[in-house]
Amino acid sequence: MEIVGAVHGHSTFSDGRGTVQQIRDAAADAGLNFLILTDHDTLGPLAEVGEGFHRGTLMLFGCEVSPPTNHLLVFGAETCPDRSQAPQAYLDDARSQGALTFLAHPHDRGVPLARIPSYRWDAWPIEGYTGLEIWNHLSDWSGHLQGIGSALRALRRPLLALHGPDDETLRLWDDVGQRRRVVGIAGLDVHDVRIGRPPFAAHIFHYAYAMRTLLCYVDVPQWNDDPQAAKADLLGAFAEGHLHFANRELGDARGLAFLGLRPGASPLSMGDEGPAGDVREFRLTSPQPADLRVLKDGRTIGSTSGRELLVPASGPGVYRAELRLRRGGRSLPWAFTNPIYLR
Ligand SMILES: [Zn+2]
Ligand SMILES: [Zn+2]
Repeated sequence: MEIVGAVHGHSTFSDGRGTVQQIRDAAADAGLNFLILTDHDTLGPLAEVGEGFHRGTLMLFGCEVSPPTNHLLVFGAETCPDRSQAPQAYLDDARSQGALTFLAHPHDRGVPLARIPSYRWDAWPIEGYTGLEIWNHLSDWSGHLQGIGSALRALRRPLLALHGPDDETLRLWDDVGQRRRVVGIAGLDVHDVRIGRPPFAAHIFHYAYAMRTLLCYVDVPQWNDDPQAAKADLLGAFAEGHLHFANRELGDARGLAFLGLRPGASPLSMGDEGPAGDVREFRLTSPQPADLRVLKDGRTIGSTSGRELLVPASGPGVYRAELRLRRGGRSLPWAFTNPIYLR
């Protein structure tokens, strides 16, 4: 079954403005099934607040290992790896705890306008990570600010200030996928930063606003109110890439499906790997009319406008889908599936 939630947020346990209690209320108000908070270099809330369901939202605590560059999102660890180690060492530390690891905002541009440096990943080569944060709300929004005018416009109409995942990140995703599954996620990176002073203060994304934007839609085997079982099912689905992510502010992407159809067998779904000869075609279905595109190894192999797209399979490769919606005469990035890998 499909559940929806958000990952990558910061509370007063690091540099966010909201308490864990305020943030989980915002997640429950937004109707999220889960929220994974990732404070910088601490798992303090794990012991001090504790995981569990709150008004229907499963609240989990990960952390973001945060040296000056090479931020790593860690889900499911007991202790947050020490950021003073080399990146491969803190990644291996997380893995040894059975945790999932995602390279955070790997091609972050910083905020040129505010002279904030880039927080990109530059510790290459790196091995063994679960996946990549393909679309980071804060990085996308802030990385394209050109001047005061564009910053004010972007604060007034944040939706139109999103450009979608960085091309370099998408290329990396398709490239690493040639060799192994690499799970793509979207993260909020929400802090509720306040800039200026009243009456000229502005919030850079309240928690309540952020929870309506970049969400992960995850296919879990079941979902019940036992927090330990729900956590295991959720992290298991993340590990296997059974998810798509979308900007819910543009449209709810519940019900989106991307399948590799196999004659005489059940279809492959997002995150699955299978023999190339088994899949005859891919079927992408959208819950609402959109611009649909199926890509193989980063190149478009089929596109249409509507709710369904069928594309024949053409040998081994990394197949995934991107969907855009038109708003106010503009085509905006909306939803991205995890790949199906034909070997
Ligand atoms: Zn970060
Ligand atoms: Zn962050």
